[in-house]
Amino acid sequence: MKYETVIGLEVHVELATDSKIFCSCSAHSYGAEPNSHVCPACCGMPGMLPVVNKRVVDYGMKAGMMLNCHINRTTTFDKKSYYYPDLPAAYQTTQWFAPVAVNGLVEIETAKGKKNVRIKQIHMEEDAGKLVHDIREDTTHVDFNRTSVPLIEIVSQPDLSGADEVEAYLERLRDLLRYAKVAECEMAHGTMRCDVNLSVRPEGSSVLGVRTEMKNMNSIEAIKRAIEYETARHIDALENGTEVLVQETRRWDDIKGKSFAMRTKETAGDYRYFPDPNVMPVVIDDEWFDSIQASLPEFPEVKRARYTEEYGLSAYDADQLSKSIALCECFETAYAVCGNAKDSANWMISEVMSILNARKMTYDMLDINAKALGELIKLVSDGKVGRANGKKILAAMFEDHGIDPAAYAQANGLIVSNDTGLMEKVAKAAVEADPKAVSDYKSGKEKALMALFGKCMKELKGNCDPQALRTVLIDMINKA
Ligand code: ZN
Ligand code: MN
Repeated sequence: MKYETVIGLEVHVELATDSKIFCSCSAHSYGAEPNSHVCPACCGMPGMLPVVNKRVVDYGMKAGMMLNCHINRTTTFDKKSYYYPDLPAAYQTTQWFAPVAVNGLVEIETAKGKKNVRIKQIHMEEDAGKLVHDIREDTTHVDFNRTSVPLIEIVSQPDLSGADEVEAYLERLRDLLRYAKVAECEMAHGTMRCDVNLSVRPEGSSVLGVRTEMKNMNSIEAIKRAIEYETARHIDALENGTEVLVQETRRWDDIKGKSFAMRTKETAGDYRYFPDPNVMPVVIDDEWFDSIQASLPEFPEVKRARYTEEYGLSAYDADQLSKSIALCECFETAYAVCGNAKDSANWMISEVMSILNARKMTYDMLDINAKALGELIKLVSDGKVGRANGKKILAAMFEDHGIDPAAYAQANGLIVSNDTGLMEKVAKAAVEADPKAVSDYKSGKEKALMALFGKCMKELKGNCDPQALRTVLIDMINKA
């Protein structure tokens, strides 16, 4: 019998806000002293009063709009009860009855073609703390720095049917949320985590099989392996009766390449969801809604189409630039200043992106003065600064936002001088110093010219028009 795998995902994404969801503690405590970013509110002390961080709602709405959701104009918070040492209040404040966004749609593309994945809902909630197990002391410590860091949980319908679709879906979510600048979505940093709900059924059947859930997956490769393993385990159970499948939560061990039962699955009833009386309902009026809608970015594919059709870029260039909204914004600003799309794309891809790669920075970390980049590109294409010196100026611009490329070039002797007298003087000295290169060139060795040309260019500190120098140099060789 042929089987199909049915997968739904719950994806937790840490929002890129400065402060936590219900208090003003910093949401960024990576590497900080344990329990140094805490207050009575995020530690769940009795009597504390949470206040909703407006930016969290902004980002929740924005995420909902990017995923084509309906936005609930009145959205409320609820208590989800469970007892665990990483949750000091013994309940998580989350959304159950009126989440910020519902009924969305995300289009994904795999080798099989395009497909829509339905989004059941997006809810805003607080993260839990971290337990740190100390094996030597046989103790466990708890760090509350992460409690109440804002999350959204994106719950899909069971519309995914294999590892390739899951990968495409996660990448699409990541791209859309990064474009909207609401989240970093970096699985390796824990800012995107994924629960995989999986069941198997005979192909063509409309009845869902027994579902198991693998929690807190944080690498796409591990997720793919886990899906393959779980699918095989379910089919084996159905075909050969190797075990009785039960609805449960399982832990994926990526080193052993196996999943293990953790606990039988809780149902919603177990959590005793009830409206949190301490958190006021959030009412989103038209003005607020419209301002968020107006702030949405173009989708990556819309940008790519515009770059090729309107700006005349190649598909490759458009593809490279659309990898990150930060690259797109820098490119668009530079182009607006210098007026040359192809040159701008070329500088972005050959120079800016290589510097980021060399510094092991993500494209989203790009932080240079894009207007100044446009001015620099213009200086180089107008022949006022040589390309190699342009690169030097760019490197300096990565360190200092205040650099004015023209003034910087002037101050550092990087302006091209088309002083023919000077070029002749330098060419003459080079020719006289290396008679062998001259005779080599005359006997047809093109390379010998390049060696002389390089010496002259170095002597002139790159500040001359390469074409003019070449002409002067050949003249000088012929005279020699
Ligand atoms: Zn706090
Ligand atoms: Mn959750």
